[in-house]
Amino acid sequence: MSRTMAADEDSTRVRLAGRRAKRILAASGACLGLLGWSHPEVALGCLAVFVVIALVVLWPSRAGMAQERMQAEARSELVWPGRGMKAIVEALQEPAFILDRGLLLRYRNPASFVAFGNMTLGDPFSLRFRAPELIAAVESAIRNQAPGQATLDERRPIERTWQVEILPVPAYQGESPHFFLVLFRDRTAERRTERMRTDFVANASHELRTPLASLTGFIETLQGPARNDAQARERFLAIMREQAQRMSRLIDDLLSLSRIEMKRHLPVNARADLVSVLRKVQVQMAPLAEELGMTVEFSPVEEAVLVVGDEDELIQVFANLVENACKYAESGQRVELSIAHETERGEPVIDASVRDFGPGIPPEHVPRLTERFYRVSVGSSRAKQGTGLGLSIVRNILLRHKSRLLVQSEIGRGTIFTARFPATASESPIQPLVQYYS
Ligand code: ADP
Repeated sequence: MSRTMAADEDSTRVRLAGRRAKRILAASGACLGLLGWSHPEVALGCLAVFVVIALVVLWPSRAGMAQERMQAEARSELVWPGRGMKAIVEALQEPAFILDRGLLLRYRNPASFVAFGNMTLGDPFSLRFRAPELIAAVESAIRNQAPGQATLDERRPIERTWQVEILPVPAYQGESPHFFLVLFRDRTAERRTERMRTDFVANASHELRTPLASLTGFIETLQGPARNDAQARERFLAIMREQAQRMSRLIDDLLSLSRIEMKRHLPVNARADLVSVLRKVQVQMAPLAEELGMTVEFSPVEEAVLVVGDEDELIQVFANLVENACKYAESGQRVELSIAHETERGEPVIDASVRDFGPGIPPEHVPRLTERFYRVSVGSSRAKQGTGLGLSIVRNILLRHKSRLLVQSEIGRGTIFTARFPATASESPIQPLVQYYS
């Protein structure tokens, strides 16, 4: 027998018992009244008997009261979830709601409050969530009494993507569910990574297609109208060479980025001397600096400054930063390299910086500089043989070194790119990848 039917039967029984009690009282009242009226000497006794009958009939038994209480609880449990169910929902770390069959909100956990703000119990769920896809999924799960799913994209106050699961909560003894658990899982990070990956492929293809289209165009011109024009041929071949070099640079950077990303989670098991790294970069970049009429200055105070690091990768980091400083801050005429010991939140850190005295970078661009293919000016980057991948490579190498890239820039005064390393190299022993025990 179902729980609702049992509750209905109980309440019918109580109603019938009430009616019976009234009838008994009325009948006994009438009989005793008649008897007292015809025999006044026993009238008092009749009244006493009537009071006793009334007390016996009307006094609710303890069992009856307990039964009524249980019935009331049973009735309310069809509307409000029980304490156990609420406790489980509260324990969930992600937003969760309990709805009834009528899509009314019956409970919500603290995480839902943080994510979606206050919602009044008893209000329709659709008052806060209006996305038709989500409401349709909830309605369908309730109708079919089966789990359902939906995706919710919210634009405000911030862009977020939620994976929503609607789960019927099993009721007692095979009864159809009275409540439905609606669970929200934050999928914003996954969605963003997915979008970044597709954007990356689209950008890489676009970057390669542009020089390729130019090459194809020149080949056709050389095969057609300019076939016998020696002067044009020389000019076009020079441009074609430039475009081929651009493609080659881009492929080199893409391969470099993919190699670094593959290694990103592997710990660095070597020490590098930052003084030696910066000296090597200074020598390596001297020809480019000279070509652009610039000087790269470095006057280290210490003989050696050790960090946990892979020397080749760190040379790649600082070569990229110095190359950018030479290319984009030519007007400043010099680039300064430096090493400093600092503290961050009480912890010692080592800063290795590349400073230029060029035009600076507008603040709105700074947070996006390390995104793949991000440039402040696409035209200027292309003109200076940039690929838009340099700072992304720098960031990924530094991430593997548990280091961060800091950018300070002032319009008209220049930019400082700083790689901040934890100062632990001299204290902590380097763990080899494979340990040997004797
Ligand atoms: P690119 O290959 O275009 O140089 P990067 O990732 O190395 O790509 O740099 C991204 C963008 O950051 C550059 O296109 C340039 O606009 C800007 N940038 C980088 N370094 C500097 C600098 N020292 N001064 C001014 N702008 C810079």
